[in-house]
Amino acid sequence: MIKESEITSFTKLTLKQIRESVKSIKDQLPPDENKVITYSKNFTVSLSNYCVNQCGYCFYNFKVPKLNGENNVILISDKQITSLIQKALKSNCKEALIMSGERPGSFIEVQKELEKRDCLDFIEFVKGICTYLLDLKILPHTNLGFLTYDEMKSLKEYNASMGLMLESTCMKLFEKGGVHENSPGKLPKKRIEHIKNAGKLKIPFTTGLLIGIGESIEDIIEDLFLIKEINNEYGHIQEVIIQNFIKKEFIPYQPEKSISIKEMLRIVGFARIIFENEIVIQVPPNLITGFEREFIDMGVEDFGGISPFTIDYINPENKWPQINDLQKICKEQGYILKERFPIYAKFISKEGFCPENIKKVIYNINLDDKYSA
Ligand code: SF4
Repeated sequence: MIKESEITSFTKLTLKQIRESVKSIKDQLPPDENKVITYSKNFTVSLSNYCVNQCGYCFYNFKVPKLNGENNVILISDKQITSLIQKALKSNCKEALIMSGERPGSFIEVQKELEKRDCLDFIEFVKGICTYLLDLKILPHTNLGFLTYDEMKSLKEYNASMGLMLESTCMKLFEKGGVHENSPGKLPKKRIEHIKNAGKLKIPFTTGLLIGIGESIEDIIEDLFLIKEINNEYGHIQEVIIQNFIKKEFIPYQPEKSISIKEMLRIVGFARIIFENEIVIQVPPNLITGFEREFIDMGVEDFGGISPFTIDYINPENKWPQINDLQKICKEQGYILKERFPIYAKFISKEGFCPENIKKVIYNINLDDKYSA
């Protein structure tokens, strides 16, 4: 466990000192790796926004009124799935981000829809969609919130990688008025169990922190060390997302002050110092627009999934950037923007991490620039 004095020494670092440490870490990479920023051309399949939790910052949950008269989705229709996949094939997307609220199958409305489609349960439904995608050479990356060990085990051979944000282990968030007051699925014990189970199952994994939801900088540093510790044990975490909370209307959490870009840069720098070159640091580019260069200098190596046609369901007002624009920005900073798979290259060959059926699909996909790390 990290000592309090270590946390304090992090908080005292200036931006300049952080940037210098990040630079010396990056310099240890071989030249063909330290000037590359990656992204994945993806699209989102939002299966159901029914969710057992009610996080104060959530816009996606079925209980939150939607903008532009958008409807809640009990369970995505077959027609919607087909239409999304057709668009994805036309746009040459390699990754499908499969998402939903947490445990939608526990709602009677969702159960009735599953029955109509002859599905035993929600996990069976997800498997069916993943099979369809894999047959069309699209790699699923599933994030359905908290899952049991057995559920994850049964989903492994249907996914190139999976994900679950740790978000924050700060227990203050569960107190009255805290963003996790009504979210039992966000209890740190459960999230940690899920991430560790993914490790036991050798599932290439994405996790991350949600920043600016009522936690302190000390909490953030502690959580970064916790992720490092879990990865030291299982070696399955391929990327860590550092995601800033974006203020929105119609949600309960309305902080007076949002997290600033300067604070985000510090946290991204801390992450790069803590994870060194072992785990990739990602920021969603649609949440830091205009500051991409600063984040690249601070050690960001990946801009995550960028969709040519589906929205960011969590932050619908923040549009995805154009790949060409990002490419230009990277080039100006001396970097090359390259497409990657939802599974990082080192996990494709790592013993036990990539099922044979997924490997077969990967070997039949041509990335735009033939790059896969
Ligand atoms: S678990 Fe996810 S979908 Fe459910 S309320 Fe929280 S943020 Fe929203």
